[in-house]
Amino acid sequence: MKEIIVVFTGAGISAESGIKTFRAADGLWEEHRVEDVATPEAWQRDTDLVLRFYNERRRGIASAQPNAAHTALAQLERFADVKIITQNIDDLHERAGSTDVLHLHGEIMKSRSTLDGELYETKGSDIQRGDLCPRGAQLRPHVVWFGEAVPMMEPAIELTMRADIFLVVGTSLAVYPAASLLRFVRSDAEKYIVTLDLSSAPHRDFVWLKEKASVGVPKLVEQWCS
Ligand code: NAD
Repeated sequence: MKEIIVVFTGAGISAESGIKTFRAADGLWEEHRVEDVATPEAWQRDTDLVLRFYNERRRGIASAQPNAAHTALAQLERFADVKIITQNIDDLHERAGSTDVLHLHGEIMKSRSTLDGELYETKGSDIQRGDLCPRGAQLRPHVVWFGEAVPMMEPAIELTMRADIFLVVGTSLAVYPAASLLRFVRSDAEKYIVTLDLSSAPHRDFVWLKEKASVGVPKLVEQWCS
């Protein structure tokens, strides 16, 4: 039976594709305070600003390309049972060819009905005020905002517990409950983290590669496949 490799990714894996990470030194996300664009309160207060913010993010992601880290993880599927759990709302894992991707925080290429939660493909287009689901309710971006529940947490925990190898890539491990996944990694699993910022190092039993994702991830994949 193939080994199960679970890969937990964050914004850092997409940084070299030109998508900015979340925590800039000034604490802003693309020049915005998180509370102004990524909370249910922001949506109530200024729907147009929130829609504009995610429309810009969606356009940027649509024109970005997967990098060597995304590609290496897709190629790893030939050798192992690879399950990706991503905090990213981009679709770069899928576009690199990964077939088993769980999005903890939603997918920006989808919209969601504010009435019944049904999902729809945006096909890369903007979501505008007045864009309605078939039942007549406003559509919103399919992303988990700060302060909202994370419904995919349960299946993510189940996957994490099955990992023979657990690899963390490009996350500050500052966003909860996502970061608490590490608590569910089996003690006998091999554990690796690839990130530039070792202050975010989770546990002593993780092997740390203080490298860019595009360098560290292909290196590990080559090691596992040889
Ligand atoms: P974060 O921005 O908090 O942390 C990014 C981490 O990646 C940092 O530790 C940094 O040192 C590291 N990093 C930066 N460049 C790197 C590189 N080239 N190679 C390896 N590591 C690198 O990101 P987070 O922990 O994912 O939390 C951010 C939240 O914001 C997530 O919930 C996510 O939904 C959202 N977000 C998503 C995207 C996206 O979809 N691409 C982008 C920005 C924010």
